[in-house]
Amino acid sequence: MAVAVYPRNLAEALRILEIQSPLVLAGGTDLMVKRAGTYPDECPVMYIGNLPELRQISRQGEELRVGAACTFTELLASPLLPDYLRVPLAQIASPAIRNAATIGGNLCNASPAADALPMLYALDAHFILVSAAGECRMPVRDFFLGPGKTMLAAGQLLAEIRIPIREGWRCIYRKVGMRRANSLSKLSFYALSDCAGGRLQDIRIAFGAVAPTVVRSREAEMKILSGLPVEEIILMYNGLIKPIDDARSSSRYRREACIRLLKQYLQS
Ligand SMILES: Cc1cc2nc3c(=O)[nH]c(=O)nc-3n(C[C@H](O)[C@H](O)[C@H](O)COP(=O)(O)OP(=O)(O)OC[C@H]3O[C@@H](n4cnc5c(N)ncnc54)[C@H](O)[C@@H]3O)c2cc1C
Repeated sequence: MAVAVYPRNLAEALRILEIQSPLVLAGGTDLMVKRAGTYPDECPVMYIGNLPELRQISRQGEELRVGAACTFTELLASPLLPDYLRVPLAQIASPAIRNAATIGGNLCNASPAADALPMLYALDAHFILVSAAGECRMPVRDFFLGPGKTMLAAGQLLAEIRIPIREGWRCIYRKVGMRRANSLSKLSFYALSDCAGGRLQDIRIAFGAVAPTVVRSREAEMKILSGLPVEEIILMYNGLIKPIDDARSSSRYRREACIRLLKQYLQS
């Protein structure tokens, strides 16, 4: 039977991580549904869900700082959360799951279908990774290597997500799933725009679950801004997405739905 450890603060957690290499547990909503045998029984489990350093939400200058152990319910209740983060996060799972599930768990689990991912790519967020040796800051696009694979090294925790504040920017988030609630995306589409002064000033587009990691292209976004015809933009994205067949959907459906959502958005 696994031993459970409950560090009281981040420094203690990092010491335990260095010495015992435990399995890190936050909300447990991804870990608890893994197949039996995924982790060795003798591996200790370290609960990080109540570490005070990982539970803060604050604004520092032009950045929102979100502790990795904040649950989605806590995030959605924060007056600091802008709508362009609130819209996708409100579509995650159900209230019961959101009460336990943390943003850090969503990111470290690295599912291509994770709902917190496209918005963070679109916003050029950064992650703060900590270990007993110190901390480092990493752009979100460098952190994810593929399904279930990240740059998180042994002995490291994701401590904080730093998200640039974009006053007045608007988003849409379309999540295509089996049901409206409590289901993972077959694919997702996040678009963020700055229309200050009634003119399109900037645009960010990110797709989830149509490639091993989120698909975003600054080159394609710049072409949209330069007024390239919609059909040519669609051709560009068609080349960028690489959907697969799996239990949730077929690659063909994913590609068609993705392109339809993009076309609707560009023509709106
Ligand atoms: C019924 C159901 C519905 C769901 N619906 C959705 C949905 O709609 N959208 C969606 O995106 N997800 C969904 N999920 C998946 C899951 O709820 C989320 O991914 C959740 O955010 C995971 O967070 P957690 O705190 O529970 O992670 P945990 O299960 O505790 O951990 C997940 C992984 O991350 C690691 N980890 C956690 N925190 C850290 C940290 N700070 N540093 C380093 N490693 C860490 C753990 O070791 C583990 O490998 C659903 C799950 C269920 C069971």
